[in-house]
Amino acid sequence: MIEHRSHSRTISAGKPCIEEAKCSNRVRLAREFRFEAAHRLPNVPEGHKCARLHGHSFRVDLVCEGEVESHEGWLVDFAEIKRAFSPLLEQLDHRYLNDVEGLDNPTAENLAKWIWIRLKPALPLLAEVIVAETCTARCEYRG
Ligand SMILES: [Zn+2]
Repeated sequence: MIEHRSHSRTISAGKPCIEEAKCSNRVRLAREFRFEAAHRLPNVPEGHKCARLHGHSFRVDLVCEGEVESHEGWLVDFAEIKRAFSPLLEQLDHRYLNDVEGLDNPTAENLAKWIWIRLKPALPLLAEVIVAETCTARCEYRG
């Protein structure tokens, strides 16, 4: 048993210190997707590198939030998120995004909103869409 000292009290890990009934059932869960696509940004200042045709290995995190109330003990089946997103993924993967309807200016911001608008009706618990163009650059959209 691991013991931690806190405010001169000894708390033993592994032993609940809060009654389970007093804890909420609210959770956020995320399913990650990846796709490859090309784009160019038509509205950037002249000479900006993003005006040139280039590609990204995009990462999309779809986050659902709500109360766990089901007998299964989950908020939503991860497979359900995948099912809901699949038709959109098909429209994005290995595409030139500027040719996709509604994505004539496919910034990460516009792409996140594009996904939200089309996915929210099929996935009502959707709370956030995160679109990452690179390992270090992403956009978070919450509707
Ligand atoms: Zn880009």
